[in-house]
Amino acid sequence: MRKTTFPALILLLASPLCGQEHGAPKAEPKGKATSSAAPSDNPDSPSAALAELQSGNSRFVNSKRSRTLETAKDAGRRGELAKGQSPFAVIVTCSDSRVPDNLVFDQEMGRLFTIRVAGELLEPGGIASVDYAVEHLGSKVVIVLGHASCGAVKAVRDAKGKPLPGNLWAFQAGMAGLLETNPADPNEDGAAYLARLVEQNAKRQAQILVDRSAEVRHLVGSDKVWVVPAVYDLASGKVSFFKPLSVAEASHH
Ligand SMILES: [Zn+2]
Repeated sequence: MRKTTFPALILLLASPLCGQEHGAPKAEPKGKATSSAAPSDNPDSPSAALAELQSGNSRFVNSKRSRTLETAKDAGRRGELAKGQSPFAVIVTCSDSRVPDNLVFDQEMGRLFTIRVAGELLEPGGIASVDYAVEHLGSKVVIVLGHASCGAVKAVRDAKGKPLPGNLWAFQAGMAGLLETNPADPNEDGAAYLARLVEQNAKRQAQILVDRSAEVRHLVGSDKVWVVPAVYDLASGKVSFFKPLSVAEASHH
């Protein structure tokens, strides 16, 4: 399995994505076990990374954003980041314009490594992007973030198995099995059913990531990275986080 990812990594290493060896400028050698030298306020464990996203989201919900309001620091940050990046979190989310992840988690540039595609589908390019971030940039947590009223999930629900036109069929391919494992409940209205599908899709995409990436599976298994499904509520701005995936869950599917 290492063999399959190796050529992809060579490409990434040769690309401008990887401006320097291990992402960040060297900080003072502080005897920490981590190999990447991240800025001093970077969370250095999966639990700390998740806690930072939770507190950032609560700042956002309460109209108390702070990190994303420090515009006076923009030029300095750009200069620092031009030398390398060490985003502490990966966010896999929908392209929907109402889910601006930097604002939702109140994190400025250089902190979040984001993969956005409608329906937060974990396709090969997205999985490779996550691999790159957790292996080479030192990201500690991967959030797979669905959201209320997702148009991609709704399109798949409403098609009821009939192929969607043009390229839209890719949503059905990416969510294959979602409707079959989560049939409509006659006691549930359309909105409740959609909300249930949104949550299940985020969990299934997170599982796809762990199933299809040996690198992520290894890092989750050794507790160096957490993969956490979550759902964003458009109106309140609140992110509900679910249980981090475990490798045991990943192995039987
Ligand atoms: Zn969406």
